Amino acid sequence: MFNYQLYFSKKRKTLGLQVKKGQLTVRAPSFLTEAQVEAFVLSKKLWIEKKLALSQQPDIKSTSTFDYSDGDTLFVFGIKRIISIQQQRLVHEKQNPLNNTSDVDSNITLTSQQLIITLPTEQYHASDRRLFVRAILQQWFDEQISQYVLSVLPVFEQQMNLFSQGVKFRIYKSRWGSCNSRQQLTFNSLLAMAPHYVIDYVIIHELAHIKHMNHSIIFWQLVDCYCHQVDSAKTWLKAHHKVLHLPD
Ligand SMILES: [Zn+2]
Repeated sequence: MFNYQLYFSKKRKTLGLQVKKGQLTVRAPSFLTEAQVEAFVLSKKLWIEKKLALSQQPDIKSTSTFDYSDGDTLFVFGIKRIISIQQQRLVHEKQNPLNNTSDVDSNITLTSQQLIITLPTEQYHASDRRLFVRAILQQWFDEQISQYVLSVLPVFEQQMNLFSQGVKFRIYKSRWGSCNSRQQLTFNSLLAMAPHYVIDYVIIHELAHIKHMNHSIIFWQLVDCYCHQVDSAKTWLKAHHKVLHLPD
């Protein structure tokens, strides 16, 4: 469930949990078994998730300078990736005259650590290169979020027995999703920066609005029935909202 470092001590009388820099440490009295410790850790799941989300808060200094440059960082599905901007190789285009246009267009490759953005030579050297990079990223996040949401939405709709009448994606400045009176859902494309469990929470939240167009107690009870990580998802969004955007 959680990875943690476990220390037994003969001096300890009680169990102690500590979350530091995204790492959970458990200190236990030596008369307890590992299974007993595990059960205790599980019973504190919500508290731990909250602390973990908060302790992974990115440092604001490095993110406020985000400028679509090489070496800047950006979250993709909850994992920080380093941006690498590369120039499309001309040789490649000439050697393959039958290439379709997408090959010479800019594109994005995601690796475990990097987000590689390939630009055509002209755009790569353009003085307003950041505008091209921004446009590419915006389109890419649109594709990523729509792919994910459209794959899981039908599952949640079935489970909750609530069905949307259309889904749209766009960039919102200050909201993650919405549900209108015609039961059409809209999601912020930049949710693709958040971990999957956070996106799932937003989907369930908006589906629940089909039944309750408010944030009443019954609304939250409905959300809680289908999402078991409401608190940690909200905490994650709160901790990261500053970096979940594409500056103009
Ligand atoms: Zn709401």
